[in-house]
Amino acid sequence: MNPREVAALIAYVVKLDPRLALDDQAAAAERLAQWCDLLSDVPAQASGWDAARVARDYIARNPYRIQPSDVSRPWHTHKADVMGRHVGTFEPTAHPEINPDDETGNAFVAALRAERQAVAAGQQPPVTHRAITSGPPAQQVERRLAALGSYMPPTVRQALAEFRPQRAARERLAAANLPDPLDVPCTWCKAPVGRPCRAPRMAPGSDAIGFRPMKAPHPTRVDDAAAYHTAAQEQETAA
Ligand SMILES: [Zn+2]
Repeated sequence: MNPREVAALIAYVVKLDPRLALDDQAAAAERLAQWCDLLSDVPAQASGWDAARVARDYIARNPYRIQPSDVSRPWHTHKADVMGRHVGTFEPTAHPEINPDDETGNAFVAALRAERQAVAAGQQPPVTHRAITSGPPAQQVERRLAALGSYMPPTVRQALAEFRPQRAARERLAAANLPDPLDVPCTWCKAPVGRPCRAPRMAPGSDAIGFRPMKAPHPTRVDDAAAYHTAAQEQETAA
């Protein structure tokens, strides 16, 4: 929090608990400086975090005068909790700055580090995966991952994920048991199963029309995949 945010927070808590009011200007300035120091690494607002709300909850539940640590301690707990849930993988499509041909992996490591920092600072929600470990959904996950053909150890696969964004995206969907548009053909652009949707591309200087793969599938294919997924799920449950 910057000094302005800290001053706003102090004004807010004084309103909720008038015992905190200080008549003495010097004492008020000293308190502001102290709170600024102790809350400099605590954001006013972040993903799933609101310092004013934490202060209000504290005052509502405690007979004691609120201290800066009553805000900073919950922040560090919140941060640790968020980092515990963050798995440290991200959508390759969200990182166009990464050049897939860069074999040093420096850009990848930098992006991963930036993402961790953003999550830790609460500027970005954590990336979590639903763990599916038992029951018919687990069997379906197994079946789908097997169908994608996986002979690599998971660690190697993870390391290679950035170089194969489409493949990685499919594995992620299969592992989370979510519909995968590439499981069905696209009735709009006629892309077959396993191939991305495509958009026509005019070649300059010739009449030939080529196709370029699209990052996102056509909406109709997404709908079809959802229906396919539901049907497969029901079949699995019935089996
Ligand atoms: Zn399509």
